[in-house]
Amino acid sequence: MKTVKKIIPSEKKNLGPKQFVMSPLPNQWVGQISPFIMLDHFGPKHIPAGEPFFVPPHPHRGFVPVTILFDGEVEHKDSFGNIGRIKGGDVQWMTAGSGVVHSEGATESFSETGGVLHLIQLWINLPAAYKMITPSYQEIKSETIPVLKEGNSQVRVIAGDYKNLKGPAKTFSPVSLLHVIIPEGEEITIELEKMFTSSYYLTKGQTVVDEYDVPEQHLVWLSDEGDKITVKAIRDSELLFMAGEPINEPLVSYGPFVMNSKTEIIQAIHDYENGLMGSI
Ligand code: MN
Repeated sequence: MKTVKKIIPSEKKNLGPKQFVMSPLPNQWVGQISPFIMLDHFGPKHIPAGEPFFVPPHPHRGFVPVTILFDGEVEHKDSFGNIGRIKGGDVQWMTAGSGVVHSEGATESFSETGGVLHLIQLWINLPAAYKMITPSYQEIKSETIPVLKEGNSQVRVIAGDYKNLKGPAKTFSPVSLLHVIIPEGEEITIELEKMFTSSYYLTKGQTVVDEYDVPEQHLVWLSDEGDKITVKAIRDSELLFMAGEPINEPLVSYGPFVMNSKTEIIQAIHDYENGLMGSI
């Protein structure tokens, strides 16, 4: 059995005057849980009709920004001409690689009518050998995500292999990403690869793990030793389980760029400013 290494509360991170996300990674208690480098949790929040929710064009290089949408409708546009619209249950998996410029936000129809928006943005690091590969964009519709039913709980396999199921996300190092739904009073044992780092973030509910009580919007960082963990739901709970082979390489990040050295960061800024990452 794995044990709890650390329980990390989220910190509030302002996006603008009226919007914020809850962020358990990184914050004052944790730097990274390699290969996972950032997790932002937005909502669930009711967005009033007519209020736009939009992040204007910005670049990324050297990692994989993933959007896991629980509720609402968001649109992605990038400098490679990809346009994607996803709804609750879908996932956007973008390999930024050598560099891409994109915009993201609620769709026009969602902004007109308003509604509940609830999502996670997760940044997954790329090994040095893949940081400069050609960018790619993968839209993962809910119906293509395999679901394992265990008792009354569900495990949605977004990335990696889980008990004969294979997540649709294309990864460049071993990564498992599971959306786990556990009804009140039930428990589930999640099996993991040995020697992977592992953690889970509770988007909703309350769980008990290794005798610790874990409230909503907390990240549970598990021990490297062991290959399974039992999680019990005290209330209806949803969690995002993250596991992966750690990337043991230097990490230097600056805003939207995640590289291995300061020189590579300066190059990324230079390339972006010279239009090498394209435009929308
Ligand atoms: Mn972005």
